[in-house]
Amino acid sequence: MPLTHVQIVLSHTSHPGNIGAVARAMKTMGLGTLKLVQPKHHPSAEALAMASGADDVLQQAQVYQNLSEALAQTHWVIGTSARLRSLRWPQLSPRQAAAQLLEQASHGPVALLFGRERIGLTNAELDQCQALVNIPANPHYPSLNLAAAVQILAYELRLAADAQPSAATATAPLPDDEQPASQQQLEDFYQALEHTLIAIDFLDPQNPKHLMRRLRRLYGRQPPLSVKEINILRGILTQTLRTKNRAI
Ligand code: SAH
Repeated sequence: MPLTHVQIVLSHTSHPGNIGAVARAMKTMGLGTLKLVQPKHHPSAEALAMASGADDVLQQAQVYQNLSEALAQTHWVIGTSARLRSLRWPQLSPRQAAAQLLEQASHGPVALLFGRERIGLTNAELDQCQALVNIPANPHYPSLNLAAAVQILAYELRLAADAQPSAATATAPLPDDEQPASQQQLEDFYQALEHTLIAIDFLDPQNPKHLMRRLRRLYGRQPPLSVKEINILRGILTQTLRTKNRAI
């Protein structure tokens, strides 16, 4: 069932009570995979108390030292933000985000990423997301408690999953190279792309002008790049460097 393919990732959570409340919010809606990136305190009695009967979700939560590791096996990531950001990440409503996540979840693990209590997600973290979701709120006070934000989005996922006809979830599996590329493969590609663009003097590292961020938006559009497409792009980069080196 695609709902079990939706992972909740919390970055640098300060309050252990929030982690417990998130576990509870997830379990009530049928989500089970919680990933924690450098939580301030974990495990903790406070989290366990807030989790109530959802201690299984809490105890199975995996802890990571950095976000890339937490997302490596997923192929579609939606970040959450209480504010609208200046650079144009595609912005989704909770309903649109739930539909998109479930659609992608039929091809494998996807993630919904939540930020720090005080400052939310950094731009570097948002760079690893394909889209952003914003929960509409009071413009003068738009910042929900972390677990409350998880609850709302988990509820939307639940509604979307319940509305799916069961036949739609049983689509035939795609061949291996038609599968969406993983975040790890994408990150490796962006690194190779940046390296090549610098080598051919298209990207000036002293004056990058958000080029890589824009390219991430371009390659991150739906539908996601497949393993085969990433391999073609990597092949082009390799050949570009080869030709350039021959020309020197
Ligand atoms: N000042 C921070 C607020 C952090 S609230 C900011 O501007 O992002 C902690 C986390 O809860 C956020 O990182 C986000 O994951 C989630 N959150 C809170 N309010 C939200 C909202 N209105 N829409 C989407 N996510 C929200």
